[in-house]
Amino acid sequence: MTAPWLGVIADDVTGACDVAGGIAETGVRTSIVLGVPEGADDPAGGPDECIVVGLKIRTVPAAEAVGAARAAAAWLRGRGTGQIYQKYCSTFDSTDSGNIGPIADALAESIGGMTLGTPATPAVRRTQYFGHLFVGDRLLSESPMRDHPLTPMRDSDLVAVLGRQTAGAVALLPLTVVRSAPGSIADGIRARLAAGARHLLVDAIEDSDLDRVAEALEQVRTPLVLGGGAGLAVALARRAARGPAAGAAGEVPHGGRLILSGSGSARTREQVAAFPGRVMTLDPLRIAEEGVSSLLQALREALAAAPGESPLVSATAEPDRVREVQATLGVQRAAELVESALGEIAVAAVRELGVRRIVVAGGETSGATVAALGMRRLSVGAIAAPGVPWTTGSASAVPGAPTVALLLKSGNFGSPDLFTTAWETAP
Ligand code: ADP
Repeated sequence: MTAPWLGVIADDVTGACDVAGGIAETGVRTSIVLGVPEGADDPAGGPDECIVVGLKIRTVPAAEAVGAARAAAAWLRGRGTGQIYQKYCSTFDSTDSGNIGPIADALAESIGGMTLGTPATPAVRRTQYFGHLFVGDRLLSESPMRDHPLTPMRDSDLVAVLGRQTAGAVALLPLTVVRSAPGSIADGIRARLAAGARHLLVDAIEDSDLDRVAEALEQVRTPLVLGGGAGLAVALARRAARGPAAGAAGEVPHGGRLILSGSGSARTREQVAAFPGRVMTLDPLRIAEEGVSSLLQALREALAAAPGESPLVSATAEPDRVREVQATLGVQRAAELVESALGEIAVAAVRELGVRRIVVAGGETSGATVAALGMRRLSVGAIAAPGVPWTTGSASAVPGAPTVALLLKSGNFGSPDLFTTAWETAP
């Protein structure tokens, strides 16, 4: 087994799919391992050039997130991985207690070095300018992320945001430096590290900015944990790429289709509103009272009546409604109820209803779904939308461990008609 050149630790599974899809598209062979890997956990077989470990640590207590990230990094290093990359969301999803800062601290400490990263991912219109994160043409704090159910982002100044999550000094590599020659960028990085920066955030508004940083990093000899959104990781892959796009997911047997949505993001709300097919609404208050049996019955009837269709089971609701539910049940309990209900529905759909292709909307929701299905590894296949590749893997929690295709979509990704168009690229 060849040592992987890049080992990515992603804080949620849609983030893992996002970065793995982008890297695989450059021609770098890539596979995803879900959960903290164990000694014998060999990804998909063969010499992987990039291994992406998909965790679910974006919103768990910081100590738990740090423990999982450390264990994943140790496993990657044990396999001789050259470069560790801390993947977080391109909208910097986090709270003042973590988890981006604490994980960055732990990973930096584990190599006796510093971190350098940026959430900027121009392909999905996330850009960073003088330390401020933009989502399209809006500051992060004025984007729909300000109302995220778990990680509301109300400050766009990432140097300040990250500064509140870590005791280490946070510095900025501004666009004025990023737009200079690679040698000057490398000097700028070294100067800031020498001045005591423990975490360096890098401005970028176009892919060419990330490409210049990737090139400059080859001249910086200090050990660094790299990190950020998919943008910088894919730029590193573009420099390392050797061949045409890989992207061959395994064969998936014929079977039914299903869409599950537990995302509260604005884009998912548009996708749910635009979906022309059958929608079954998951009401967390009702689930708290009576579980999923009536929803499952409705799904069973829908799939029996129209086997070729792709019904949608959706907890997605407007922010006001989510707040009401959270006020009644508590934020965590509401999230757990929705996540475990959708996981249960996924398992029942695969086990009893012959479903083999599932679109899942929501980062946390995707993590819960793959965990419920018992999926440990995913092969990366065709890209349905930027940052959203189809993946395949075996659902070990279902008798016979059938192969299932999953499209795991982060809340804000995909065009409004994704729930319809995604099937065109399904394996
Ligand atoms: P996104 O990728 O859009 O952020 P996530 O799945 O990561 O989506 O996060 C959304 C969170 O909100 C999940 O934990 C989910 O369980 C929770 N949630 C979804 N719908 C509701 C609802 N109607 N009421 C309360 N919480 C909800």
